[in-house]
Amino acid sequence: MKLRKVSAAAATALVLALTATACGGDNGDGDSGSDGGSTSGGDKIKVGIKYDQPGLGLKEPDGTFSGFDVDVATYVAKELGYEADQIEFVETKSADRENALEREDVKFIAATYSINDERAKLVDFAGPYLLAHQDLLVKADSDITKGTDLNGKTLCSVTGSTSAENVKKEIAPDAQLKEYGGYSECIAGLQSGAVDAVTTDDSILAGFASQENYKGQFKLAGLKLSNENYGIGVKKGDTATLDKINAALEKMVSEKAWETAVKDNFGPANYKNEPAPKIGDIVK
Ligand code: GLU
Repeated sequence: MKLRKVSAAAATALVLALTATACGGDNGDGDSGSDGGSTSGGDKIKVGIKYDQPGLGLKEPDGTFSGFDVDVATYVAKELGYEADQIEFVETKSADRENALEREDVKFIAATYSINDERAKLVDFAGPYLLAHQDLLVKADSDITKGTDLNGKTLCSVTGSTSAENVKKEIAPDAQLKEYGGYSECIAGLQSGAVDAVTTDDSILAGFASQENYKGQFKLAGLKLSNENYGIGVKKGDTATLDKINAALEKMVSEKAWETAVKDNFGPANYKNEPAPKIGDIVK
């Protein structure tokens, strides 16, 4: 009898707790706000970025975040109703981006995420907000100057990236391609001599080359091997968020906040970026 009473009390407590959660308690899933999927403000928003790309998306040793993608994401989140301290950044590596959106781990992704037809079947893209180009990073004394010099050499790129796909299909099908999870691992391989070149977007490579610990050691080949139109990824079908992000990106450019973010983040790497793209203008 006594036991039964305890169970009933516990059951009531559980029901109350569940009701409280359902009625607006934030479970931190990025869908904050009482209507579950709102982008018009709430407690927290989860945003996917890279953690190991200096100048674009970097987690600093003190736990803060820096880079162009971080600044774009912060601006966009503000337009969606979230202050900087309401953003929870989540690492989304190249190969994880589509799944992270599908699973709703994050509300949107700003992570050097190139728009292409294959990905657009799985996610929706706002933007583009930057045009980069695939390039090569080699040791300062390397004689690799063009894509075809790579055949027979060891090349590093990242699993799930357009850069790795382009190498296999077009740039150097006969190169020995090592695919790692992140670009920082490729750069370590270049420094140690385990790989002869690293390939990905020039924006990313310039950021690494300018790091204090790598200064003078590497050079960019300066080849425009592809057009990489960076978009902001959202879950397939989330047109409400997509439209708000496109409006935010347009405002970021017209208010010159885009230009400021470019100077702050690409200036130190001496990266000569392309002008701000128009929303929906994808360079093939
Ligand atoms: N922008 C390219 C891509 O989306 C390469 C950089 C990256 O892996 O994020 O795949």
